[in-house]
This record gives sequence, structure tokens and C-alpha cells, in this order.
Amino acid sequence: MPTQSLVFLGAPASGKGTQGRRLAEFGGFSYLSTGGLLRTALREGTALGKEARPFLDRGEYVPDEVMLPMVIEWLGALKGAAILDGFPRTLAQAEALDTAYLEMGHPLPHSVFLDVPDEELRRRVTGRLECVSCHWVTSRGAFEVCSKCGGKMAPRADDEVVRFENRLNEFERLTFPLVRFYEERGRLTLIEALGSPEDIHTELRLKILL
Ligand code: ADP
Repeated sequence: MPTQSLVFLGAPASGKGTQGRRLAEFGGFSYLSTGGLLRTALREGTALGKEARPFLDRGEYVPDEVMLPMVIEWLGALKGAAILDGFPRTLAQAEALDTAYLEMGHPLPHSVFLDVPDEELRRRVTGRLECVSCHWVTSRGAFEVCSKCGGKMAPRADDEVVRFENRLNEFERLTFPLVRFYEERGRLTLIEALGSPEDIHTELRLKILL
């Protein structure tokens, strides 16, 4: 059982979800995708979904006041270490996360930055499908039915071009500074995430789990 949680940092379509889930399955981590959680809330029309919708529709980040209680609640029920995909995304979130781990008496999380050039991100985003039930991601045309749970595969609304550019801007402005935050604290591993999903997974295992 791993003891230190991991946070996955990376631009939209950098592979955080694919790699995060795979490493979680392999290494016995719990897994949380805040984007997946928000999209489920949207579909189910919950209070959280209603609050988050206008931000997601514009490709903007959901405010910290909404995200923090949601994640802190999830962490409260957590046993063992987790992989957090898409959280933290702002400095305030990273600081709050460290405080929560300190209060729980758990080791502070380590971060993994999946570094991918913008041009490659734009190329990837035009081709991806996500399972509406379990949020598994594939390339367009690869499968019509989710290979994990049998759910329906569909393009993600926020992958549409204008919204994608907004998400990329939000990433550069608000999330990229977290690379420095973790680096300064000696808790960053950088992965050049341009190879095949298989190769990146192998590199993660070698660099993170050994
Ligand atoms: P991607 O990393 O490909 O953009 P995600 O599924 O991680 O996809 O997130 C989708 C959207 O959900 C983000 O663009 C953002 O609007 C919202 N979101 C997810 N996590 C957070 C967070 N920690 N803080 C603010 N907004 C978030």
C-alpha cells in the first residue's frame, strides 16, 4: 500500500486522467478526478452541478470556494494514499491541500508534472472521447463502447476549440505556477509526456513507484 499521495499536474489533454487512473490501479492508490466529479454533478443536475455549470461552459476554472470543500470532504473519507487528477489547480488549492494533509498527519503529497507542448495538446484534443459513466478516455473512433464499464463514449463539450483555448490559458495563468511551488519544496517529478501511453506509464512506474 503506498503511503504518499500524488497530485498530477498538466495542461488539458496532457494525459493526467489516462496516466493517473492507470498508475492508481497499478499501485493501489485511491483515485479522484475533480473534472470527472464536476461533469457527473452537471449531468445529474445537483447543487454542485448548477454552481459549476457557467464556469465549465466558458472553459474557466470553478472557484476555489466551490472546489475546496468538495475535495476536503473526499479526503476526509480516504484510507491510504490517493492520486489526485486535476487538483490542486491554483496556489490557494495547493496550500489548502498541504494544510489538510498536515492536519490529517499524512505525508505531504508529491507532484507529477506531465509536460506536453501546446501543439500536441491541440492535436490530441480534437480526437478524444470520454465514457459518460466512468470517464475513461480513448481516441476518437477507437471504441464506441467503453472498454472499462460498457458505458457510452462521447466527445467532451469542453474540448470544443474556443473553450479548449480558454482552458489552456487558465492552465498557464493559474496552474503552471504550481510546478515551481512543488519544485521549491522538493516534491516534483517532471515527465516529458510525449511518447505512447504505454511508455509514459512505464516511466512513471520507474520514477515514482521505485
Ligand atoms: P482537463 O485537465 O483536460 O481540462 P479535467 O477533467 O481535469 O480536464 O477538468 C475539466 C474542467 O473542470 C476544468 O477545465 C475546470 O473548469 C474544472 N475543474 C476541474 N478541477 C478543478 C479544480 N481543481 N479547480 C477549478 N476547476 C476545476
